Amino acid sequence: MSRYTGPRCRLCRREGSKLFLKGDRCFSDKCSFERRSYPPGQHGQGRRVKVSDYGIRLREKQRVRRMYGIKEEQFRSYFAEADRRKELTGTTLLVLLERRLDNVVYRLGFADSRSQARQLVRHGHFTVNGVKTDIPSFQVKEGDKIALREKSHQIVPVVQALEAVARRGVPDWLELDAEKRVGTVKGMPERSHITIPIQEQLIVEFYSK
Ligand code: SF4
Repeated sequence: MSRYTGPRCRLCRREGSKLFLKGDRCFSDKCSFERRSYPPGQHGQGRRVKVSDYGIRLREKQRVRRMYGIKEEQFRSYFAEADRRKELTGTTLLVLLERRLDNVVYRLGFADSRSQARQLVRHGHFTVNGVKTDIPSFQVKEGDKIALREKSHQIVPVVQALEAVARRGVPDWLELDAEKRVGTVKGMPERSHITIPIQEQLIVEFYSK
């Protein structure tokens, strides 16, 4: 299945919640979901059909998958990995998603959205512990240093994104030296660091059916 390239705000409206796919715009009154929170399409404002239990679980899985911009096969393999581990499957799944390099680049504020972060990583703008790393799914670990390469310091989207993160802040498990353009993974993400409402148990139930 190929990656979705259509209007991103449409995904928020489809999932019935804000997925924060467009950076600063998501925090402003220009957010489409704030203005039109009903589903997209001709029948979006029509009669609401009762959603089945399966539908509720499916929607939660799709919501999280779209939030992180991950294809179905890869999301499924993250779930399989989380299921193999001893810790709580749902929490482990979210931690694996948070530890992706593209997510960390976004969380540190080098990019306005995860999709922009993915593109910057793919184009080789970052190093991890001094080694050029262009794999968005790379899993960071405690102590890793994620640095913007010297030649990329003045890229306009990065400069703009860093201005925006100064307002939003970075999560506790990360540390940003904005001047040097270096981020540090201070510790592993925990469930409490993910503040967007997610019912991961529904995802576990979806794949365990
Ligand atoms: Fe979703 Fe952001 Fe668009 Fe709002 S602005 S609908 S949160 S992508």
